[in-house]
Amino acid sequence: MTAAAHKANYRVADRDLKYYIFDWDDNILHMPTRIHMERRGPGGAWLPHPVSTAVFSVIRSDTANYRPENGDWELACREFRDVEVGDENVFLRDTRLAVDRVADGRTPPAPSFTRFRQVLVEGRIFAIVTARGHAPDVIRAGVAYFIARVLSPGERETMLRNLRGYMDIFDPAHGRGSDAETLDYYLRHNKYHAVRSPAFETLASRSGNGARSTEERKQFAVRDFVRHVIRIARERGLTRPISVGFSDDDAANARAVESYVREELRREFPAVKFVVYYTADPDIPSGRKVEVHGQLSLPLGGADQRADRSPARMPRRPAPAGEEEIADA
Ligand SMILES: [Mg+2]
Repeated sequence: MTAAAHKANYRVADRDLKYYIFDWDDNILHMPTRIHMERRGPGGAWLPHPVSTAVFSVIRSDTANYRPENGDWELACREFRDVEVGDENVFLRDTRLAVDRVADGRTPPAPSFTRFRQVLVEGRIFAIVTARGHAPDVIRAGVAYFIARVLSPGERETMLRNLRGYMDIFDPAHGRGSDAETLDYYLRHNKYHAVRSPAFETLASRSGNGARSTEERKQFAVRDFVRHVIRIARERGLTRPISVGFSDDDAANARAVESYVREELRREFPAVKFVVYYTADPDIPSGRKVEVHGQLSLPLGGADQRADRSPARMPRRPAPAGEEEIADA
């Protein structure tokens, strides 16, 4: 271990409590993965029409002209499951290709690439919430590749100093480990929710949130993450205000999360500030930002607002038994 490996940034103890949730495709990375759709051709015949996730987010509501291959979504989304291509998991292959293209300067980064990089350097807790169907460990391995390939040596050292600072201050019993162990400790504290994965199905069905739309699954994943960061903050005795950012290039997903925050989460977590970033607009590279506050910013007066502030709605419901066990597995 070098002398530098012993250095820690203890100023992280005074840092604001900002946490982020990132959609993956076209938000962090433009992945080469294709969705196998069919398009209605002349005479009404269905013709193969594989599309990128960016194109899919535009055509997905046009059911008159587009459908999944053979009308089967599982078949259409086969590249979004944990299958091997050669000896490599398809997600890890596509992540490698997409990261390398940006790292080599061949293509500009997706809208939240830079914010994600910053979150990693700062050692902040985050969640990946994606409509993919990969195991949590696979997504986590993709994040590890991002760190290894994108962060400069200086950024990597800054990240490690921040992580050592967090560990020394908030989890002193854990003790110091190697750089690899420190990074592993960090990655274990984040959430990797691929909402079409078997692991997520198990997590959601245990909580009575069985098979539903992608938007509803993402809502559930967001709530799970908010509970996760609040629990960690409490365990560490932190009482400063918490803010949670959510970014997604798919406007339908971002809208669904925004309305979920307004209708549900700000009641369940009145002290948390939520920020939703719509990242599909090329004219606003870092995303259109919508802030949704909890209790403190509710307008005074009005029956609905009084109902929102009623103490009966304030207590947080306890997490259902076992809810947290899957995501870190
Ligand atoms: Mg996306």
